Amino acid sequence: MLFEPVRLGPVTARNRFFQVPHCNGMGHRDPTAHAVMRGVKAEGGWAVVCTEEVEIHPESDVGGFVEGRLWDDADIPAHERLVEQVHVHGSLAGIELVHSGRAAANLYGRIPPLGPSHLPVEGYEPIQARRMGRDDLATLRRRHRQAVVRSLRAGYDVVYVYAAHGLTTLQHFLSRRTNDRSDEYGGSLENRARLLRQVLEETLEECEGRAAVACRIVVDELLGAEGIERGEIDELFGLLGGLPDLWDLMVGYWPDDSLTSRFGQEAWTEEHFRGLKQLTGKPVVGVGWLTSPDTMVRLVRGGVLDLIGAARPSIADPFLPRKIEDGRLEDIRECIGCNVCVTGDWTATPIRCTQNPAMGEEWRRGWHPEHFRPRGSEAKVLVVGAGPAGLEAAMALGKRGYEVVLAEASRELGGRVLAEARLPGLAAWIRVADYRKAQLARLPNVEVARESAVDADDVLAFGFQHVAVATGARWRADGVGRRHRRPLSLAGTEVLTPDGLLRGERPAGERVVLFDDDHYYLGGVLAELLTGEGRRVTLVTPAPRVSEWTVNTMEQERIHQRLVECGVQLSTGRDLVACEGGTARLACVLTGAEEIVPCDAVVLVTARLPEDALAEALLERRSEWEAACLRSVRAVGDALAPGTIASAVWDGRRFAEELDADTPGDAVPFRREVVALARL
Ligand code: ADP
Ligand code: SF4
Repeated sequence: MLFEPVRLGPVTARNRFFQVPHCNGMGHRDPTAHAVMRGVKAEGGWAVVCTEEVEIHPESDVGGFVEGRLWDDADIPAHERLVEQVHVHGSLAGIELVHSGRAAANLYGRIPPLGPSHLPVEGYEPIQARRMGRDDLATLRRRHRQAVVRSLRAGYDVVYVYAAHGLTTLQHFLSRRTNDRSDEYGGSLENRARLLRQVLEETLEECEGRAAVACRIVVDELLGAEGIERGEIDELFGLLGGLPDLWDLMVGYWPDDSLTSRFGQEAWTEEHFRGLKQLTGKPVVGVGWLTSPDTMVRLVRGGVLDLIGAARPSIADPFLPRKIEDGRLEDIRECIGCNVCVTGDWTATPIRCTQNPAMGEEWRRGWHPEHFRPRGSEAKVLVVGAGPAGLEAAMALGKRGYEVVLAEASRELGGRVLAEARLPGLAAWIRVADYRKAQLARLPNVEVARESAVDADDVLAFGFQHVAVATGARWRADGVGRRHRRPLSLAGTEVLTPDGLLRGERPAGERVVLFDDDHYYLGGVLAELLTGEGRRVTLVTPAPRVSEWTVNTMEQERIHQRLVECGVQLSTGRDLVACEGGTARLACVLTGAEEIVPCDAVVLVTARLPEDALAEALLERRSEWEAACLRSVRAVGDALAPGTIASAVWDGRRFAEELDADTPGDAVPFRREVVALARL
């Protein structure tokens, strides 16, 4: 049933797989890379493939982020290219038009933002949005209509009217929280929905018979009576339910919508969506980290959704629909719910994905999520270490057709994800290993050797032509990292590292100081683990917030809340100066003011060192290589430079891609688009 066509007004989706709009950090800056990425989704079977939010005019720009633009005719060619890439594979192309209003500070255009009320913009920019007058409302409607016309000229089949994620003026009017007007655009729901109705009607008028009109709507702002609640949306469906050709439902704000697996389950949105489809005769799409075909079928059969909405599952596996259709369920590369993809948007860099290293590299480097360039020689390759980097390298080399041996010191394949997936909330991360293990099992040209620790003598004796050393990294036990460049004085104190804890070691004492100078997830997760086991943990971090970098995965607030709820003592903006006999000395990073806290054991989550001894030993014995036929040795993943799981997987793919390839020398190693200069 997932492959039944669904009629969307004047157009038809060939199946129920719908890639909802999602950001990608490429947008208007990297239009061809963006277009080709969307094309690969269409190739993978998504019946509808949408853009990210696309600004309709610089009156409302999200400068600082790289989204889509359709400001004037000059932006149309980039969209034509995207539409072309999607159409070539028989899918429909959708565009999500946005007027951000007070959700954006207009840093690029500098024009004061607009909104229903005089209110500061979201975030901390010292900028206020201006209350829209009659002329402003007419201007917004006219500009939205112009953007619709341009969308049609670019060839889009689905045009969005966007009132969701807290990111748009149409939602700001709809919500009591941001609309304090007393004119015909404020007060009753009918009044607050007036602008949405007008824009919807005008969009329908322009699209008539040519493209479907989708309305993306927040079904609950999760703010209680302060904001939009489900009851109001039921009422709204009574007013507008029959207007658009398609409803696209979401819950809360973006961090809710893209809830990580650490904090939510598949289909968590179901309870919020149930019953809405019955209030409209129009098809309904919605997301909820939907990765399993059984869940998808249940939601369609249960009358919750008509179309399966996906952003992250389509990023992790652009070929998800094709694999389901072909009954190749074991080939699905399931999203792990880590939100590394989201960090591309927050850092304004091309999207990356832990599971799919080809994401964002489809055009730049010519990588495809499923297809691999055939091998360039008969060379035999040894991959040492079966963590994320080694697994990916061996798999990609195997798919290229090389003879590969993957040697792993331990009995299990997976490296760091084996241990980290056992930590609170990270169970889904095991999918990084599971997918690759299943693929390797079906590659007859890849031999997996477990319990096979390899040293330099072994490598030289084996007679391989290329060696990838993917032996990982180890956490430092001396406190050196971002904050400290010299080892800390820790005399008389039990010292633990994440490696020890992941191996099962535990502090003997009860009072633990965890020094997090890493700032990603691990410090917080280990604090949660130890507190859950009865230790009294103080998490000390020099950063102003716990797990500071997770603002980019949109988890920071939830992590803070979770740590407080499970009783972790939080000490932010503090440095660990030293430990001495049952105490730890902390200092404020700004004033230097010191305090002493009890400390039986200290856990150091600071920095890692690559396990590169094997690579170094081999490189030192270069002169012996020729006799041994060895042509290249390279450290890969964490053994090259410790980083995220995503970067280890990516580097494994890079090793496999670059084998027997023309080396780029000093040239830029990927394609990019350089702006054509305007006339002076
Ligand atoms: P990455 O994230 O770069 O993939 P991991 O630390 O997750 O790194 O994985 C490294 C893997 O390499 C571990 O499974 C480890 O057991 C294995 N390993 C380390 N040294 C050797 C060696 N000399 N021979 C074989 N396997 C090794
Ligand atoms: Fe899923 Fe993580 Fe990939 Fe995003 S980066 S699509 S959350 S696996």
